[in-house]
Parts: sequence; structure tokens; C-alpha cells
Amino acid sequence: MTNHFPVNRELFDDVMVPNYAPSTVIPVRAQGSRVWDQQDKEYIDFAGGIAVNCLGHCHPALVGALKDQADKIWHLSNVMTNEPALRLAKKLVDSTFADKVYFANSGAESNEAAFKLARRWALDVHGADKSQIIAFKQGFHGRTFFTVTVGGQVAYSDGFGPKPGDIAHAEYNNLDSVKALISDKTCAVVMEPLQGEGGIISPTEDFIKGVRELCNQHNALLVFDEVQTGVGRLGHLYAYMDLGVTPDILTTAKALGGGFPIGAMLTTTEIAKHLKIGTHGSTYGGNPLACAVAEAAFDTVNTPEVLNGVQEKAALYIAGLNAINEKHNVFSEIRGKGLLIGAVLTSDYQGRAKDFLNAAMAEGLMALVAGANIVRFAPSLVIPNEDIAEGLQRFEKAVAKLVAA
Ligand code: PLP
Repeated sequence: MTNHFPVNRELFDDVMVPNYAPSTVIPVRAQGSRVWDQQDKEYIDFAGGIAVNCLGHCHPALVGALKDQADKIWHLSNVMTNEPALRLAKKLVDSTFADKVYFANSGAESNEAAFKLARRWALDVHGADKSQIIAFKQGFHGRTFFTVTVGGQVAYSDGFGPKPGDIAHAEYNNLDSVKALISDKTCAVVMEPLQGEGGIISPTEDFIKGVRELCNQHNALLVFDEVQTGVGRLGHLYAYMDLGVTPDILTTAKALGGGFPIGAMLTTTEIAKHLKIGTHGSTYGGNPLACAVAEAAFDTVNTPEVLNGVQEKAALYIAGLNAINEKHNVFSEIRGKGLLIGAVLTSDYQGRAKDFLNAAMAEGLMALVAGANIVRFAPSLVIPNEDIAEGLQRFEKAVAKLVAA
């Protein structure tokens, strides 16, 4: 295709709604954990498309599934079901606590379905008074109006008129703050089993088990948003599997499609039955192309090789980041779990996470931030160890330059 205009970063400002401020770099191709931009400069990818590309870029199993399905059937709508959706749903229920699956197209949509289901379940089973949703400060659940209001940063939900009501926010890792809010009028407690966007914060065992108990005491559903933590990211298929706590509803997206948009809500038969015919839906949910790719991603990730590999690779990151810190003293803490890692900046570098990201980019390394003070890494779960080593070298160069500046 020939275009009669330059396709560059300036074009973004001309034709795109200004809600994003993307990098000046425009990647055009990628393989595994390496990415190349329009000028053919190479980058190592420690960002993984924000915890999405769980098998790197253009993984042969995913490319094969996409091409294969592309020659068969692309879209049907929910007036008909399809084979890839059925196969993926069966694999999800066979591998988790859940009996039923609802497919969506994103994390936010999966959460939207979860929150609507929780409200409908409560209305049907307990009556109209039971509508309170408790979520957590700094939590993140997406950008639809319901999900962003459940999310714990008012800055994201302010300025759009009246908000969905009866949503309260407790403090993560503070069980007393949940106790202070919860009652028999609570229909659901919604939480990430490790806060991602909010700063890579792991729950303490007492806290997460305590939340489960409080939900049981008050007949409230426990909803785990595993959009960022799910599909192997923390070294288990889903994070709940290593926490000794089982939710009533779980949402999954991001890595589920390995880079193809898909999300899902998982729950039990008893709860699922309240989303009766016609109560909720989506044109694209369960799209055959998306489900075929997700099935290939799921089959590849849900193996001991990949899941055990996450811990090994995480150890390389932690050792490498600690070594960088010994030399340059820029982090006060390196935290997280599996391949969701946060390097917290010391007081000298408060608010400068973006500077680290930009400096890394200049050295050929793609990283992420989680707020203004944390550099975040969410690489492919199968990133080659050599790429980790080389990426960390590039990161060290970036850190050294920032420290010297
Ligand atoms: N929930 C969590 C925990 C997330 O991290 C995100 C995205 O960062 C979302 C929900 C929203 O997902 P999406 O952007 O696919 O709507």
C-alpha cells in the first residue's frame, strides 16, 4: 500500500485524540523479546505490552493458530457459538476453580461483567439493599465508567459527571479498613491479588485470607481481578493458586490472548446462573480468532516448563537489579512476584520513573512505570536468559547516565 503522507509520530498529534502521550519511537516489527523501530533500531522488550505479550512477539504457536483460524472463520456473533471459544472455555474451567466462562474483549469489559454479575447475584439472592462494592485505594480495574469508579484513583474517574454509586474504598493490606466498611449490605469485595498499576504491592497472607473470611461472614462475593497477574505472570497459572484463597469470580485478560484482544470472567455455576439470557453481552466476546490465539497461548503457558521458568527468570532479574543498585544506589526496594517486578526509586529520584524509562529507551530497552516512583518490568514469560542479561546491561547504562547527569 502506498501512502502520500509520512507515517510518523507527528501524525499522531494530527489525527489521534490526545488522551495518550506515546513515545517518539514507532516499532514496526518484533520477534521474541526483540523489537525494531522505523529506523531499524533494536530494543529488548522488558515491557511486554504492559504484561500482555506473555510469549513475546510473534510466537510460532500463536502465529500458527491465528493463520489457521484466519482461513476458517473470523466472526459469528453470540447468536452462534464456535469451536475455539468452546475449547478455550473448557480449558479454563478444567484448570481453575471455575465452572463457567463469559468472554469479553478486554480487562475492563471482563470486570464490567464481574461487577454487574455481583450486583445481579446480590439482588436476586439477598435483595436490593445488598449493592455495596468494596474495592481498594490505588487499585486499577479499567477505564469504563463502572470499572474506573471501582478503581482506587479518583483522578481517573472525576470529571465525567455522576458516578456509579455505592462503591467504597479500603486500604490494601489493612484488614481493619475492610472491617470498618463491610456489612451484610456488601455484595462484593473487588481486589487485585497483587496491585499492579498501584505500585506492585503484594498482599500479606493475613490480609488476603482475612478478606476471604470477611466475605464469607457477610455473604459477599470475592472478586479477583487477575487481568495483570493471570496467565502465568506470577509463576502460577493464576495468582490465587499460590495464595490459599479462592475467589468467587475471577477476571482475566491481557496475557490471555498473548497480544490478541480478549478477556474473560470466570465463576461458579451457582453465581453464573444469575446472568440469565439477555442480561449482559458483547458483539465480539468469544470471537473465534481471539479464542483460537488465546487457546494456543493458554496451552503454551500452562506447562511446567513455562511456569517454573518464570521463577528462574525472576531470580535473574532480581539479582541483576540488585547488582545495578549496589553500584548506583537508585532503588530503595525491588519487589513484586514472578515476572511482575517493581524497582522503587529512592527519595533522591522521587517522581522520576519516567526519566528512567526514557533513558532505558535511548539505550535500546523497553520498560514500564507503575506510578511516578516505580520502574516496572513485565517481560515475556519465555524471554531468553541472554536477552535478560543484555537488557539489564542496557538498563545499567541508562541508570549510569541518569546518575551522572
Ligand atoms: N485490571 C487490571 C488489574 C489491570 O492491570 C488492567 C490494565 O492495566 C485492567 C484491569 C484494564 O484492562 P484493559 O486495559 O484491557 O481494559
